[in-house]
Amino acid sequence: MTGREKSRDTGGRNYHVLPDTLAGHGSFRTYTKRIGKQEQENCVYCGETDTVEHTIFMCDRWERIRQGAWNGLGVNITADEIGEQIVANEEKWRIITNMIRKIMSQKETEERLLQRIPNP
Ligand SMILES: [Zn+2]
Repeated sequence: MTGREKSRDTGGRNYHVLPDTLAGHGSFRTYTKRIGKQEQENCVYCGETDTVEHTIFMCDRWERIRQGAWNGLGVNITADEIGEQIVANEEKWRIITNMIRKIMSQKETEERLLQRIPNP
């Protein structure tokens, strides 16, 4: 963690969302497999290996939400740049955390629905 991140005043917002997500402690199959929740670690939408980076930056399923954020930022960012972008200013912080929250909550909702449907 850099000095800039440490000194950041979060104003009581939901600061843990991003670090938890980037640490893979969300609905990612490589993680859920590790803790025994899932049998496979491929993305249910496209079959690629499901990682934090895949979900937030690559999977086509979330392209619309991702593009909305990139439009708001005025630039497309990569996984390597997100840490720097998120502490750049309040507006970027808001756009990026909203994007991640939107993708994760929708993904978790859809995965709950998928788990109720028996495999063919
Ligand atoms: Zn995918």
